[in-house]
Amino acid sequence: MDFEIELLRAMVQALPDPVFVISENGYYLEIAGGMDSAYYHNGSYLKDMSLYDVLPKDKAEWFLKQIRETLKQGRMRTVKYSLSGNDVKGLETAPGPDGDIRFEGRIQPLPLSLWGERAVVWAARNITPQYKLEIKLQQLSETDPLTGIFNRRKFLEQLGLCFNKFRRYNRPAALVIFDVDYFKRINDNFGHSAGDDVLCQLTVRCAAELREVDSLYRIGGEEFAVLLPETDAKDAFRQAERLRKAARQLKVNPSEAAGKVSISAGVSEFIDMDVSIEDLMKRADAALYDAKRNGRNCVMVSCMDGEQITIVAP
Ligand code: GH3
Ligand code: MG
Ligand code: MG
Repeated sequence: MDFEIELLRAMVQALPDPVFVISENGYYLEIAGGMDSAYYHNGSYLKDMSLYDVLPKDKAEWFLKQIRETLKQGRMRTVKYSLSGNDVKGLETAPGPDGDIRFEGRIQPLPLSLWGERAVVWAARNITPQYKLEIKLQQLSETDPLTGIFNRRKFLEQLGLCFNKFRRYNRPAALVIFDVDYFKRINDNFGHSAGDDVLCQLTVRCAAELREVDSLYRIGGEEFAVLLPETDAKDAFRQAERLRKAARQLKVNPSEAAGKVSISAGVSEFIDMDVSIEDLMKRADAALYDAKRNGRNCVMVSCMDGEQITIVAP
């Protein structure tokens, strides 16, 4: 019998991940496991202390909320959170991983009361490497590898969010779609890598012209979009003109007189008739098409004229 208890105690202490018994009032009642300092700080001194003794108030409140929610639901819950050694009083200089650690917490109601209080078992697992990979994958999935700006996938997602805001709260937003003029010629005359260079330089120049709230996306080969929240078509036209002028400053090869770059742009804004983001995109595309027909290096705007949608060159 003694041996069994000894074994149980040794097993609990050797649990690879730390396990806490925490009361419904936020006291650490028991702590075990997680002894490898490559993964965890040693928090065994926390026993009998309160969450509020050792954590910043907002974090202590968050932990307590999770404990009470788990007791209320009466079943195991999984939560994710970040915590660093510096967040916990007494752990600042203890051996353990530096910086923020990402945890997955599994919280299970304890099937008995301790000193008249309910409690949970909180098993915490260091999932920092997976979390970093998740963030990296998320970034890759929304970034254009050539220019480093957002890609078409991110554009459609953000446009969708803007459309929801327009529908629900009547918040305006405008869209500029622009395309490099005669880009095929640039590639043909100066080579594909010079073409790539133009796309990168154009991106830098355009990004520098935009407000913090505006966002730039590469939505096709030499086609870009700018999403302008809280902006009507008139102001979006002004912004597109600034982009057009900025592009005009670019030269494919600075030592040659030839090879100036230009863009054509189409502008549209959300209107009450729109049922989806495609409507807005179609109008911006139609305006861009007209800008190309109009001789390129210009901006055209799709706007409402009474009940009619027309394309104008303001
Ligand atoms: P327009 O003024 O009508 O837009 O003419 P354009 O020549 O720009 O249009 P077109 O669609 O005929 O050609 C676009 C070219 O862009 C063709 C394609 O090879 C090139 N392109 C697409 N993606 C890239 C890229 O990543 N790098 C480079 N260098 N070229 C690209
Ligand atoms: Mg083009
Ligand atoms: Mg194109």
